[in-house]
Amino acid sequence: MFEKIVIANRGEIALRILRACRELGIRTVAIHSTADRDLKHVRLADESVCIGPAPSIESYLNVPAVISAAEVTDAQAIHPGYGFLSENADFAERVEQSGFTFIGPRPETIRLMGDKVSAIEAMKKAGVPCVPGSGGPLGDDADTNLATAQKIGYPVIIKAAGGGGGRGMRVVHSEATLLNAISLTRGEAGAAFGNDMVYMEKYLENPRHIEIQVLADQHGNAIHLGERDCSMQRRHQKVVEESPAPGITEEMRSKIGERCAAACREFGYRGAGTFEFLYENGEFYFIEMNTRIQVEHPVTEMVTGVDLVKEQILVAYGETLSYKQKDIKLRGHAIECRINAEDPRNFMPSPGTITQYHPPGGPGVRVDSHIYNGYRVPPHYDSMIGKLIVHGRTRDIALARMRTALSEFVIEGIKTNIPLQQDIMRDCAFMAGGTNIHYLEKKLGL
Ligand code: ADP
Repeated sequence: MFEKIVIANRGEIALRILRACRELGIRTVAIHSTADRDLKHVRLADESVCIGPAPSIESYLNVPAVISAAEVTDAQAIHPGYGFLSENADFAERVEQSGFTFIGPRPETIRLMGDKVSAIEAMKKAGVPCVPGSGGPLGDDADTNLATAQKIGYPVIIKAAGGGGGRGMRVVHSEATLLNAISLTRGEAGAAFGNDMVYMEKYLENPRHIEIQVLADQHGNAIHLGERDCSMQRRHQKVVEESPAPGITEEMRSKIGERCAAACREFGYRGAGTFEFLYENGEFYFIEMNTRIQVEHPVTEMVTGVDLVKEQILVAYGETLSYKQKDIKLRGHAIECRINAEDPRNFMPSPGTITQYHPPGGPGVRVDSHIYNGYRVPPHYDSMIGKLIVHGRTRDIALARMRTALSEFVIEGIKTNIPLQQDIMRDCAFMAGGTNIHYLEKKLGL
């Protein structure tokens, strides 16, 4: 097994990776910015290296600094977590060229999936159902583009091939605004992502967001671990996630899951990955693939009992997957609430010092967080400060457990979104299950 791994991330996911390494007997190197000296995992790691100043562009996104940290500490592999460099194919390539193992898919796979047009093309070939669309990049010919939209049927959505984070998309309701929308999206995409390629899809009006977790090794084995429903979103950012998704039958799950696992075998995928789908009127429509561990991975861990981060490390080392498809059984129901340092009403970030911290506990309660009494939440990074995950035999038990856990959770000194999460856990439509991706914004009056 690897002897030493560099954790190229911060916050809760860095701590999560550290825990997996410890269980596997692997030594850890924490890399951090000057603003993050007091992070919990930095204190727990076997070694730590300060790689630059607070702005991520000079630290967590600084490729030579991250690779140097692996060199000076004589580590063998780099775990990128999520965000930052985790889906940067050039970084993955540099890591491997420098003689380290990148804990993730091959750079070519990251590149293929990072371009949404090529990802959709690959998925179609592999028999994964996609949203009806242009089937490739849009050209400059007005008549062709008008005809494409006509064929798909309005409303349509114009999306940037290199887009991410919910940016670079525009919905078009009628012919009158189509051409202008294409050129605006193209201009923005060029400026924001350095790639002005755009494509067109049917705009689904009331879908749910349902995604499939996969794991694959380097010996041609790939399995799926069921789905997560992440429809509770604000500005395309997930707020609550759960597994299984309400209303998805065992038959639907294995049909779509098997498709995803087969696609992984076809692409020679390795590691953990997620196929994201929109789900409407009983049909799944692929939108993108994430080639990394996701924030919401714990709900899958709770219902399957599989440690996804440990499996990522094992398969990166070259081990065979510890599970076969028949070993994966979903047990009970899990829900995750993201805990953000933000004002629960206007969503303004709320950095500062935590003066009181009392996490909840009890059966079926898991807290993945790096915060502690006296910890200062820096203003430079994402506002997520932890995740509260519960597991119960049924969805109703999980809901009751989440309500109890949220009521026990004390975080003082900064504002958090706990009141919003409490509100969601008592919302009649959420309690019934199966709300769509617009539900939360409508409820909030946005
Ligand atoms: P990103 O990489 O920026 O997250 P995605 O392609 O995953 O982009 O889309 C993000 C979100 O945008 C989806 O979760 C959904 O809310 C909305 N969206 C994207 N494509 C469509 C579509 N064809 N119809 C309706 N909504 C869409």
